[in-house]
Amino acid sequence: MRNGLSRDLIVRVLGEAPKYTLDELEIMFPLRNLSEDALVTRVAPSPTGFMHLGTLYQMMIAKKLAQQSNGVFMLRIEDTDTKREVAGAVEVILKCAKSFNLIPDEGPEYGGKYGPYYQSQRKDVYHSVAAFLLEKGLAYPCFLTAEEMDTIREKQKTAGWATGIYGEWARDRELTEEEIISHLDNGEVPSIRLYSMGNKNNKIYYNDKVRGRLIFPENEEDIVLIKSNDRLPTYHFAHLCDDHFMRTTLVQRGEEWLSSLNLHLQLFRMMGWKNPEYIHVATINKLDEQTHNSRKLSKRTDPEANTMQYLINGFPQEAVLNYLYNIVAAGYEEEKAKKSETNIWNYPLRIKKIPTSSALFSTEKLEWWAKEYIATLSVDVLVKSVVDWAEEYGNENNKKQIANIDYLTSVLSIERDNPKRIRKDFITWKQTLEEVAYFWDDLFVANKEYSYNKDALNLFLNTWDFNDDKDTWWAKIVKISESLCVKPGEVAMNLRVAMSGRTNTPDLYSIMHVFGTDRVIERIKLVL
Ligand code: GLU
Repeated sequence: MRNGLSRDLIVRVLGEAPKYTLDELEIMFPLRNLSEDALVTRVAPSPTGFMHLGTLYQMMIAKKLAQQSNGVFMLRIEDTDTKREVAGAVEVILKCAKSFNLIPDEGPEYGGKYGPYYQSQRKDVYHSVAAFLLEKGLAYPCFLTAEEMDTIREKQKTAGWATGIYGEWARDRELTEEEIISHLDNGEVPSIRLYSMGNKNNKIYYNDKVRGRLIFPENEEDIVLIKSNDRLPTYHFAHLCDDHFMRTTLVQRGEEWLSSLNLHLQLFRMMGWKNPEYIHVATINKLDEQTHNSRKLSKRTDPEANTMQYLINGFPQEAVLNYLYNIVAAGYEEEKAKKSETNIWNYPLRIKKIPTSSALFSTEKLEWWAKEYIATLSVDVLVKSVVDWAEEYGNENNKKQIANIDYLTSVLSIERDNPKRIRKDFITWKQTLEEVAYFWDDLFVANKEYSYNKDALNLFLNTWDFNDDKDTWWAKIVKISESLCVKPGEVAMNLRVAMSGRTNTPDLYSIMHVFGTDRVIERIKLVL
């Protein structure tokens, strides 16, 4: 510990008078009145670009852990990195939370007693805690400039030492009040650094909920708590203040934070606060196309990393969540295969089983989940999902397809009445509409490559009757085939291609019945 600063100096160093004492903050944010097992979880995305699939994954886990323990799930926007903030990013986060039905119990737009839920609006909390630390000599103002820190870093690198401000490199650790005043009089704005009392030769132990007993060296670095440029907190300090005063009981976050855990535990212990439990979740990886190595999904180069893409491309939200849930909750897929009513909300997530190694993301596997999911839907739900998607994200053609709901319903009803043989060719709402586009004359493209058996088509035209039942219809096709000495399948194929332009479609009889007499005749005439 060093000498604490006087109140007046603290005000000058922070640029404002701290608003609260720690006791006042404790009263403002009381312990939550929840049962002992209830988990208070949160996701804390930074609005620095699009929403990463990893954030959706974290949201789902945090919501699930709160839901299954009758706890609370919070969304906190970590917007303290003003330099990296991207306009509109918060809206995307809120939009994804809503669209994937991962609505927080507390958060921006949802309110709550532990807010504000934007870190940029919690300056009073951070400054009040920083004032306490400055007064106790557990933190100090540091006037090192960016250039000076670069020089220090270079020297450390050349000598092969750990980089950072610690020990002898921490130039301003012991500044006197007079020296601090003279820097301030000079117009310099300090950052506030931790006065670290850690010693890297000492060990810190932690029993991670997933990884078991972890051992770290103590943290020696005088890390920045409050930045000089905007006087907002660093991640470490915000984590300390927010997860304490928001009464988070379980911090579940990406594994990239594991290496800072010693620091975070040190901060909680220094404050005399009970630290939350931690889970460090493995990243979602992919196989790099070039190197064939597994690597983290990259925000910059991998479209799969962008959560909004799944909404725009019309993946069923449930399918995306099923896929992600199967990564984190072992045995989910098997259980779902046994009991179709199994879903992520009624299948427990066992913390101890959360994987510690990265899962490989595969679009094919996601598509499998999507097909399985769509296959379980009733026609009405399918139609509604497709329409909702097309209204929000669809193009002109998609909008045409949803204009007549009755027609769309009959199109999508084909082969959905036999529970044993539900078609599995629908993957996304978008692709569903593309798959059935030939039902709309404007979107139908006749197949000009196919060499049609014109006699067969002509004969069919002469005998076609909309009121024929399926057997009669088939008997006529058989008769045509006999008269032309070809297989009935060939006649049917000619009709199929004439109707749809394709050689592969669901039940032809049903297609013709959805078309109606005129369209059947027109399509045949078109290719003749
Ligand atoms: N803003 C941090 C991130 O996006 C949050 C980490 C955490 O959950 O504590 O990585």
